[in-house]
Amino acid sequence: MSAAVVWLRNDLRSQWHSPLDYAIANHEQVIAVYCLTPKQWRHYHYAACKINLILDRLDVVRDELATRQVNLILIDCDDFSALPDALLAFCQSHKAEALYFNAEYEWDERVRDKRVKALCSENSIKVACFHDTCVVRPDLVMSKQQSPYKMFTPYFNTWLSILLQALPTPQTKANKAKRTAKEVPFDLTSYRVKTEINPWPVGESDISQALQQFILEKAPDYAENRDYPAIDGTSQISHLLSIGALSARQCVAQLVQAHHHQATEPGNGVYVWLKEIAWRDFYRYVMFHFPHVAKNQPFQQHYHYLKWSTNEAHFLAWQDGKTGYPIVDAAMRALKATGWMHNRLRMIVASFYCKHLFLPWRWAEDYFMSQLVDGDFASNNGGWQWSASVGTDAAPYFRIFNPTNQSQKYDANGEFIKRWVPELKNLSSKHIHQPHLHADVLKLGYYLPIVDHAESVARTKREFKQFIEMSQQSS
Ligand SMILES: Cc1cc2nc3c(=O)[nH]c(=O)nc-3n(C[C@H](O)[C@H](O)[C@H](O)COP(=O)(O)OP(=O)(O)OC[C@H]3O[C@@H](n4cnc5c(N)ncnc54)[C@H](O)[C@@H]3O)c2cc1C
Repeated sequence: MSAAVVWLRNDLRSQWHSPLDYAIANHEQVIAVYCLTPKQWRHYHYAACKINLILDRLDVVRDELATRQVNLILIDCDDFSALPDALLAFCQSHKAEALYFNAEYEWDERVRDKRVKALCSENSIKVACFHDTCVVRPDLVMSKQQSPYKMFTPYFNTWLSILLQALPTPQTKANKAKRTAKEVPFDLTSYRVKTEINPWPVGESDISQALQQFILEKAPDYAENRDYPAIDGTSQISHLLSIGALSARQCVAQLVQAHHHQATEPGNGVYVWLKEIAWRDFYRYVMFHFPHVAKNQPFQQHYHYLKWSTNEAHFLAWQDGKTGYPIVDAAMRALKATGWMHNRLRMIVASFYCKHLFLPWRWAEDYFMSQLVDGDFASNNGGWQWSASVGTDAAPYFRIFNPTNQSQKYDANGEFIKRWVPELKNLSSKHIHQPHLHADVLKLGYYLPIVDHAESVARTKREFKQFIEMSQQSS
């Protein structure tokens, strides 16, 4: 009987899954495997809530796979070093003639997969890698000169033209094969990590409802609402995309099915949302074509030598939401309490961190990973490099968000601030954005600003300017 193993990684779903569909169509027996790597998760600074999200999803996906008559089996490899041998042994013990999986573009993952492919081929096990991680696979989006893009806009134009040639179509349900799925022991208790954060739902109906509701009810107003943290105007599916409980291709297919050409033509909310999905693809694309970004290097490599501040007290105040800038503090406290942060707030706190505190973006990248339920190496790394002005499309170093103006614009009534900084709940919407100018904040139990806006902006501009001049002289 011909058997195949499908290796699940950051694609914890049973539909919209090419390796699984292919295996079911071509083999009499299909076994799914997931390699638990707790040491690797610690190395990647995964948040407790993200680890538990993966474990919860494994429980659900096991049942979903059973409806396709596929057993999900877990093996514990601790980290990537032991994984290739363990996976080979697993395939051999199940007499599998093939191993199928979806590509991952991060560097460590590519090294791991290369080793797995080599081991399998030495042992006559066929390996096939599919590309469901992105909507459009990264090697297809190239400039006329056949080189990879370094900016989002030209990348997006080509990405969209490729997408329009073959839009993903809604998938039909599983074909019923004549197989049976056996019960296998499945106890994940010991892998759970203690956290105060409420678990994020990962059931099939939670996921399809969240996506469908957003696409039908909120996506048309996405362009108007997406920047206001007090409004529930974004999809909040990033955690599902980050572990692959939801496929990005499925998101696009459902968007197009619901909104037809509006989804792929500029000028409306749904198109703006499609563009955000493309940003997710873009940061994976950057990692695929410019792997140095996955090795602790900035995209613009000369910035590796820029000397950031090392003020640990500032780093702690930022983490704990005690900077005296209410919008920054509200966002950082919300992150700690929920594991998630609104995109506008990620941009504000990241700009404040890099440009007001002038702290190293790598520290913050790790800190975000340690807190986020949607922690995703490519998007997080891309977001931080962009904010620090060292990445692709980087905001120029001299364009610096004024946190007070951002607060007045995007949380005008201070609704979001009051939710997370209760010390300021009695201040008017006029005073809440700069409370130290209008109240004795220390008496309220709040904080004075840890840095002065004008001074810190001037310092950052000076540091960048001097660094750029020095680099130009020495090159
Ligand atoms: C400093 C910084 C760090 C970030 N870290 C992460 C991270 O670890 N994981 C993560 O998924 N996103 C990250 N982002 C991107 C973005 O903030 C989140 O994807 C978004 O807030 C998730 O909310 P949503 O699902 O409601 O998104 P929506 O606005 O509804 O967008 C839909 C989806 O598009 C993708 N997307 C949207 N914006 C971006 C973006 N700027 N870059 C890449 N993909 C995007 C996400 O998958 C998102 O779920 C980061 C952004 C910044 C500035």
